Amino acid sequence: MFHRVLPKRLIIQPNAYSTFGTLISQEYFEEILLYLTEKNYKFLTVSELKDNIDTRNIIALTFDDGYSDNYEYALPVMQKYNITATFFPVVEPCKMNTVLPLDIYYHCIDSMNLSNIERDDYIKGDIKKKFYWSKPEEQKDILKNLFTNIPHKNVVEFMNATQLKQLSAQGFEIGSHGMTHSLLTAEYMTEQKAIEELRGSKEWLESITGKKVSSYCFPAGRYNAKMIELARQAGYTSTCLVFRDKGEKEVLPSYDRVFVEPNSFNKLKSVLNTK
Ligand SMILES: [Zn+2]
Repeated sequence: MFHRVLPKRLIIQPNAYSTFGTLISQEYFEEILLYLTEKNYKFLTVSELKDNIDTRNIIALTFDDGYSDNYEYALPVMQKYNITATFFPVVEPCKMNTVLPLDIYYHCIDSMNLSNIERDDYIKGDIKKKFYWSKPEEQKDILKNLFTNIPHKNVVEFMNATQLKQLSAQGFEIGSHGMTHSLLTAEYMTEQKAIEELRGSKEWLESITGKKVSSYCFPAGRYNAKMIELARQAGYTSTCLVFRDKGEKEVLPSYDRVFVEPNSFNKLKSVLNTK
């Protein structure tokens, strides 16, 4: 599970994405792909996994959220090694050329003069949790309360329709990560709203790629049996999780994933060797 990829020279510190783990360097990304290639892994898209009976030495790379750095810096490396992957863009920022409230949150933290403890609290602590579990509309108000300098222009870019269409045409899978990155198990979530997230995003992505969108990735990996069932009813045939909850029934093939964060090579190797 990848999120953002940038060349080392473009990773300006402090960087909240790196601190949280969702930004890795392009150099590190290439190192991982080289390792997997040398180990003879066969690369599949998420929706191809369920048809593959022999699960040894197969791997699916996923990119969550849909940042344009995926297109600019991860894509060329994958093309170099002839590797496929699945992208899970959030539709609203891609369609509207906006960013997620979390992007503004991270930007504001990186602009502040904070101690390491304060930074960690903002990025991994209770303030972040409260923010993350709030409605996207309420997140905007929380931003105004927390920070004085809210930027007016985009702080980061998401892939646009043309880029998503090109990825799809090149054989990469485009799955959905919902419309707004709302967490489907949040308190504010209703069945109706969840259906809109699942169906609305699928429809838009299908309209721009001209292909069926069959994989859905739960924002932050938050799911339950009911939400997998709603994904099935919306027409998805597989889902991506982060951590598997064995107590939740899976009516679709659902995959937990390894979070590839900076300096995670040893973790990655140990997971791959034990599975
Ligand atoms: Zn996400």
